[in-house]
Amino acid sequence: MSVYTGPVFEMAARQFETIADHIEIPHDERARLLYPKRAVTVACPIHRDDGRVAVFHGYRVQHHLTLGPTKGGTRFAASVDLGEIGALAIWMSWKCALAGLPYGGAKGGITVDPGSLSLRELEGLSRRYMQEMIPFVGPHTDVMAPDMGTNEQVMAWFMDTYSMYQGHTVTEIVTGKPVASGGTVGRREATGRGVVHLAMRAAERAGLAASGATAIVQGFGNVGSVAAQELVLRGVKVIGVSDHTACYFDPRGLDVGAMVTHAAAHRGLAGFSNELAADPSTLLTRQCDILVPAAMERVIDGPTAERLQCRVLAEGANGPTTPDADDVLTHRDIAVVPDILCNAGGVIVSYFEWVQDLQQFFWEEDEVNQKLRAVLDRAYDRVTVRVARDRVYARTAAMAIGVERVRDAKQTRGLFP
Ligand code: NAD
Repeated sequence: MSVYTGPVFEMAARQFETIADHIEIPHDERARLLYPKRAVTVACPIHRDDGRVAVFHGYRVQHHLTLGPTKGGTRFAASVDLGEIGALAIWMSWKCALAGLPYGGAKGGITVDPGSLSLRELEGLSRRYMQEMIPFVGPHTDVMAPDMGTNEQVMAWFMDTYSMYQGHTVTEIVTGKPVASGGTVGRREATGRGVVHLAMRAAERAGLAASGATAIVQGFGNVGSVAAQELVLRGVKVIGVSDHTACYFDPRGLDVGAMVTHAAAHRGLAGFSNELAADPSTLLTRQCDILVPAAMERVIDGPTAERLQCRVLAEGANGPTTPDADDVLTHRDIAVVPDILCNAGGVIVSYFEWVQDLQQFFWEEDEVNQKLRAVLDRAYDRVTVRVARDRVYARTAAMAIGVERVRDAKQTRGLFP
């Protein structure tokens, strides 16, 4: 299928081949499991503040419909294209299946730098994108959520736009909404919290105590900033942090709370400190106990993997580690918590939000967090057992469990007609 092109899709396809070989999926079954069921591209025209009309390209990919509706985030970024969105939809499928959620994977996005839009333009583009998607999504068809470049506010605009067309409020069309608009407590923090919960489990297995351990976090958005705060709460010293505007390093430990306040006020970390500024190109390879990439794909390639000096690699971002880097890490003494496991907290609490919206019955934050930990622990334990049983790398084990669940469901349902 030539519509899915580019390095991110190639990476997802290469990972799938590794898993398919490992669990011996016959070659004539592979395309049905790998290629997305549906892809939609839309042109979204909006009025710019200066009176011009600009057109942005939007996408939504629904990977498989075998286990229930599809579920996945919406990314607003300049890098977005059909191949990237297709890869992210595929990873969502393996992630949901590994966590035991009743969803196929999906992903959507718009090719736009959201920082180049005014708030009014961002609202116009968000609403137009959702309006264009109405024929293809629904609470039992495809449920959207935030991803890079989108947030609770964008989800509220999506939900409001969809609801206006239905003539009544349909909170369950998106997750990651503000609590005031039918969202759940604990969703905004869920991904970062989950990342740190599993990083700590991996650290414990590696014989590392939280107190006195050091961490570096790349990306300071929803996932990275919450992960950094959670690490501090557990007694870990966060010594390095970066976003797309700045990079800081302090072996004595950074003031993460002050950085969160600064980033919120200035739309980024730039200007936080002159003394602590560091080189972003070497941040990932500096010595630390826990490394959390929480920004973009493919930041750890083969040569970078050779130079990593961490003990635990907790993948907050989707696809931060290339297959060449995996080849290196397989032979290194670094505990890798792979993305589809490590950052699953987001979709797990999105699932809780969808269930609460469907039932119009809302939970307390303690209940959300306790259920989140239970689902994550179950998935982590299954991966650990599988690593030991098959003597494989953690990503291979995690993906194998996800792919097998989808494959089993497809086999029992059969092939229509
Ligand atoms: P976000 O838009 O809130 O934040 C992204 C962060 O990455 C920003 O701080 C940005 O400045 C930073 N960044 C961008 N380019 C960078 C660069 N070159 N170097 C350093 N930092 C850079 O996005 P997010 O929701 O935090 O998502 C981050 C990653 O986590 C993505 O891979 C996303 O797919 C994944 N993820 C997000 C969720 C979620 O619930 N939001 C769930 C699972 C996975």
